[in-house]
Amino acid sequence: MKVTILGATGSIGVSTLDVLARHPDRFDIFALTANSRVAQLASQCIRHRPVYAVVPGEAAANELTGLLRDAGCSTRVLAGERSLCDVCTDPEVEAVMAAIVGAAGLVPTMAAVKAGKRVLLANKESLVMAGPLFMAAVAESEALLLPIDSEHNAIFQCLPDSHGRPLRDGVKKILLSASGGPFRTTPLAELASVTPAEACAHPNWRMGQKISVDSATMMNKGLEIIEACHLFAVDQQQVEVVIHPESIVHSMVEYADGSILAQLGNPDMRTPIAFGLAWPDRIDSGVPSLDIMAVARLNFEAPDLERFPCLVLAMEAARAGGSAPAILNAANEVAVAAFLEGKIAFTAIAGVVAGAMDCVEPTEPRSLEDVQAIDLEARNIANNLVQVRVGEQQVQMR
Ligand code: NAD
Ligand code: MG
Repeated sequence: MKVTILGATGSIGVSTLDVLARHPDRFDIFALTANSRVAQLASQCIRHRPVYAVVPGEAAANELTGLLRDAGCSTRVLAGERSLCDVCTDPEVEAVMAAIVGAAGLVPTMAAVKAGKRVLLANKESLVMAGPLFMAAVAESEALLLPIDSEHNAIFQCLPDSHGRPLRDGVKKILLSASGGPFRTTPLAELASVTPAEACAHPNWRMGQKISVDSATMMNKGLEIIEACHLFAVDQQQVEVVIHPESIVHSMVEYADGSILAQLGNPDMRTPIAFGLAWPDRIDSGVPSLDIMAVARLNFEAPDLERFPCLVLAMEAARAGGSAPAILNAANEVAVAAFLEGKIAFTAIAGVVAGAMDCVEPTEPRSLEDVQAIDLEARNIANNLVQVRVGEQQVQMR
């Protein structure tokens, strides 16, 4: 199977390459793409020999071409969003790992969907932004959409499947696991002064910075509620968030007869990645066996909504539908970036998102262009709200 990895240099991209390299007889790498880490992408090309490598612009392309030429690597270098789409839609490509972070993943992921590929969806933001359009495109193109997000992969595994299309009959509820992140028990008064490094230090998972901050605010779980509603055609009330600090039960599905099915495993993304790559087969992922005796105890509790206002905002967006999830997502990306740059406090993230959701007029997006226009408007408003907060902090410091 020929595979393209969007976002090859990220946490998911690197784990995907690890799984692929264990099965050279089964998979070939067609293209690898990256945004900024050109040297890392060059080493990946030298090691895995894809046909194409894609970077954002001319300067990065020249740098990568030089590095590959010096190493005698024949990978062809392309640049720009159009090329990102081309390496997803090429007739030779069978599977696309969508692992770009954030809204930047929308256009190439949708291109892979429209071309009817096996789409391994890690980039939850694209589904959050454009859910109904995304799922309509999946239905029309008969793309095989396999969730990589560990919770959704677990749910997929717990649903009886019919040729990849999950059945809903008899499904009562989805129990969506959440670790609670690094601040689950931090005194509320201390949250305003937590640092980006503390927010990114997730207790169970090693991930990119943006999703790590989202896990700390639990916006990640909010985005995942929206993701679950689209993937499994359930409404928000059927998705219950369960705090499970050990991250061993990746999610559960409750049926009308009282059965609850769960998927368990070590917290290692190579399990859902291997599942997505090989489905319906099962292949080695490199993940060690779960030592259930060593785990010994599993804990579950309800989320504290006062501690996690971003979760509440996302639940509201899930209920509202239309443009609300795209506004939520765009404002969150701006707020998280501002927090990581040290411009706003951790606790200001929810305020920026709430402010943007109040300011942007809700609409019903009918096309990808509509979604992109909403995304841009929400980003502009969120950036203004960040500036206001920066100004307020400067006044306080004087
Ligand atoms: P990351 O930050 O480690 O990697 C992001 C990748 O996207 C990098 O290769 C980067 O070069 C690329 N990228 C970033 N901006 C880009 C742009 N503007 N254009 C093109 N490429 C760009 O992120 P990650 O942790 O690997 O997460 C990737 C996606 O997978 C996210 O949507 C995240 O929510 C989802 N996800 C990640 C995990 C995890 O364990 N890391 C788990 C579940 C879901
Ligand atoms: Mg997840």
